[in-house]
Amino acid sequence: MQQFILSIDAGTTSSRAIIFDQLGRQVAMAQHEFTQYFPEKAWVEHDAMEIWETQLKAIHQVMAQSNVKAEEIAAVGITNQRETTVIWDRVTGRPVHKAIVWQDRRTADRCTELTKNGHDQIFLGKTGLVLDAYFSGTKVQWILDSDPEIRRRAQAGELAFGTIDTWLIWQLTGGQTHATDVTNASRTLMYNIHELSWDSELLDLLNVPESLLPKVCASSEIVGHTSSAILGAEIPIAGIAGDQQAALFGQLCLTPGSVKNTYGTGCFCIMNTGQTAVVSKNRMLTTIAWKIGDEVTYAIEGSVFTAGALIQWLRDQLQMIGQAPEIEALAQTESDSDGVTFIPALSGLGAPYWDPHATGTLMGITRGTSKGHIARAALEAIALRSRDIIMEMQKDAGVSFKSLKVDGGASNNDLLMQIQADLLNAEVIRPKETETTALGAAFLAGLAVGVWSSTQALENMWQIDKTFSPVPSDQTQRIIEHWHERIRKILS
Ligand code: ADP
Repeated sequence: MQQFILSIDAGTTSSRAIIFDQLGRQVAMAQHEFTQYFPEKAWVEHDAMEIWETQLKAIHQVMAQSNVKAEEIAAVGITNQRETTVIWDRVTGRPVHKAIVWQDRRTADRCTELTKNGHDQIFLGKTGLVLDAYFSGTKVQWILDSDPEIRRRAQAGELAFGTIDTWLIWQLTGGQTHATDVTNASRTLMYNIHELSWDSELLDLLNVPESLLPKVCASSEIVGHTSSAILGAEIPIAGIAGDQQAALFGQLCLTPGSVKNTYGTGCFCIMNTGQTAVVSKNRMLTTIAWKIGDEVTYAIEGSVFTAGALIQWLRDQLQMIGQAPEIEALAQTESDSDGVTFIPALSGLGAPYWDPHATGTLMGITRGTSKGHIARAALEAIALRSRDIIMEMQKDAGVSFKSLKVDGGASNNDLLMQIQADLLNAEVIRPKETETTALGAAFLAGLAVGVWSSTQALENMWQIDKTFSPVPSDQTQRIIEHWHERIRKILS
């Protein structure tokens, strides 16, 4: 009986493997960290071979732990850190350079140059992305330009490019399959998200030969099979999605207006916009959410730079708490924030304000202000920044959002989730399975091979841990009014 799905979760700091059963329950998980290289200021690299080796170790370990045999695995799903760029030799399968990680800023000047030459609107129009070093395109160009021999071999068709999904598929299939999916392609600055093809005009601007690029597949289809020499059986690789898109799917945000927000160091918010590629007025990103069959679903994506990091600051700099979760009990010592507003601009303010020079500010302090009020204002700040983003997305997309699905470390904070529900005047839903990224990849893979017959089958087994319903109050309105008034005062 093939009743399990192997989900490969290739993150930025670790390689993880999770086995899910046909009820979408986690059976076992294994994880191995890999090295982060910082060769120069603002450069970040990974060793792609180490990513593959740690990933394979995690896969073998999770199979051993769970006692699941390769023959019992119906499909493999892959989700990955996005944008990170690998180029390798098609014959030896060895990388020609270290992988350049999404965080790496080495191509910022190249992006500025392309913008100065008036190309930013072409990239935005075709890819939905702002021209930034974050994405793969200028990283590919950088590697090709780093060595004339690499450039020559790329032109001769001897090399292959891939994001981490593509790299792992190449290795898992023993070099048989060079493929990616639409979600990963949509983060490269080279893929036209409207026409669904690599774009020759963009490739010319970046001086990247098309022979380097993988075939672009749907997010839920069989793209190849694992080599039996590697996993002990030929298992279909049937689901691929970048991490944020996989989480959106794993949260079953399947209809336009559904949103998921991940509360980690920062917040990552993504909204399903259905068949429309919505262009944001606030420099949020338009991206492909997934492609299933012939149907493409789009999404709009925004992030809050400082979320859990604000709690870390209270913990480490002010030593108001010993552990992050203690913030909840401290905030509970007061019934409200007593007019205190915490503007959490510890690394500037992103969408929709885009003020990189803004700094953090506490306003409304009186002789009566306590630690509890400040703790509460900090939780409100995280929820208010998320609200800012969601409200703008809603405007951009012209859809009204109904409820918010949540995950990430700080989503375990019940008070924060209640505050979020109150401020949005909408339900906040926290799932039982918090590994939503890996679950999304498993769902996409399982759908492709018939473990689940439809998304309805997924809906039937998806389980809620807790729903937070909004409690309207004048106090909530006051918090929102203060927020708007006070944020205006600090913008430069
Ligand atoms: P990341 O993936 O970005 O490392 P996690 O999802 O592991 O983040 O969440 C950790 C972050 O969430 C930290 O910034 C921490 O301060 C914050 N955090 C963790 N638990 C809580 C909590 N109960 N309440 C508020 N913040 C929390």
